[in-house]
Amino acid sequence: MKKLKDNCFNEFDPNALSIEEALSNILKTIKVKSSSENVQLKNSCDRILAKDIRSKIDVPNYKNSAMDGYAINIKDFSNQNKIFKCVGESFAGNSYTKAVKPNHAIKVMTGGNVPNSCNAVVMKELVETNEDEIKVLAPIVKDQNIRFPGEDIRKNQVVLTKGKRINEIDIGILASLGITTVPVFKMPLIGFVSTGDELVSIKKKIKKNQVYDSNRYLLHGLLRKYPVELKDYGVVKDKLSSIEKKFSDASQKCDVLITTGGVSVGDADHVKTALDNLGKIKFWKISVKPGRPLAYGKINKCAFFGLPGNPVSVIVTFNLFVNAAINKLCGKNYENHLLLEAELIDDIKKRKGRTEYKRGILINKDNKLYVKKSGAQGSNILSSLKDANCYIKLDSEIDNLKKGMKVKVMPLTLSSKYYE
Ligand code: AMP
Ligand code: MG
Repeated sequence: MKKLKDNCFNEFDPNALSIEEALSNILKTIKVKSSSENVQLKNSCDRILAKDIRSKIDVPNYKNSAMDGYAINIKDFSNQNKIFKCVGESFAGNSYTKAVKPNHAIKVMTGGNVPNSCNAVVMKELVETNEDEIKVLAPIVKDQNIRFPGEDIRKNQVVLTKGKRINEIDIGILASLGITTVPVFKMPLIGFVSTGDELVSIKKKIKKNQVYDSNRYLLHGLLRKYPVELKDYGVVKDKLSSIEKKFSDASQKCDVLITTGGVSVGDADHVKTALDNLGKIKFWKISVKPGRPLAYGKINKCAFFGLPGNPVSVIVTFNLFVNAAINKLCGKNYENHLLLEAELIDDIKKRKGRTEYKRGILINKDNKLYVKKSGAQGSNILSSLKDANCYIKLDSEIDNLKKGMKVKVMPLTLSSKYYE
């Protein structure tokens, strides 16, 4: 990619890292928490698998019927012979296991064992019955309506791989294998704290010039979807000594510490200084909008994210960087964000030099994707993120865009809106 030159017509900052540079810088410093524990199957949802899971059985583990009907052998069926004598029944859980003679049939229920000597099941609706005889009314083919052993999962097959986040479907699969406990990575401890003299508790009446501390609730909401333990470190005033004390305490306990606010270059912004005094700043400038500045570093073993104060910047930087770091720490396999292409419904203003994430609404019209901005795009305007179902990702070298142009969009799914 061609690097832009610094001038007043773009937003280029020579010291700011691109998203890719920042991300690789962060991930290099994060190690997977290596210890694991066994949890009950029911409690394993959303945890990260610490070992591959191999099946000890075939699923299904016997040849069985996919329909209510009659099991026969196809070699006895011809234009001259469509009549079979029904000599037994096979229920799910109550099998017919004897050999079946030529021209005999076994009445079989869905899930019932299909005897070895039978190789087709005729649906109940496609036979005519007369006392203990059936007449097959439709053509048949070998193996029809039969479910074979190992058709779903084979014995010794790796069914789920280490690093997978276990979901409800996986739990169903594990149960179908008779697995009662699951090896998962232990949960790291994530601490979070808000900084700012203007912040006031949501339990108090707000005065002029104060701001409700919404970031801590936002972060709590974002973090609770991960397999992590959380510790809320409250609010700290814009005073270097108080900030240092709080960071020092928290970093001794936490695997990751996330702060919001106070990370810029204003007179009340002490977060970077505190990080520098207690540990090491890895970088603090990124060329992302909204999102800069973001201070990343380490205080001993604790990874430190100094996120900006504006709520939308908090979410965007969380999505782009904190998400990847926590996932890696939890042992989850890395997944790139899903990117789609959509056509712009409106013009969009942009200057070159920074990657921008606009809050967008993605629409499917006649199987074609269109996108528009979801409202005002200031980094303080959280309400336009409420209605968004995607980010419109505009790379650094893009400038103003016209209606009808193609753009990249990152969908935000509803159930895990800001999770992956
Ligand atoms: P700062 O990065 O500290 O300069 O803050 C940038 C903007 O974000 C300011 O308008 C702050 O009032 C606001 N802000 C900072 N922290 C919070 C918070 N915890 N909740 C809501 N808004 C905040
Ligand atoms: Mg502040």
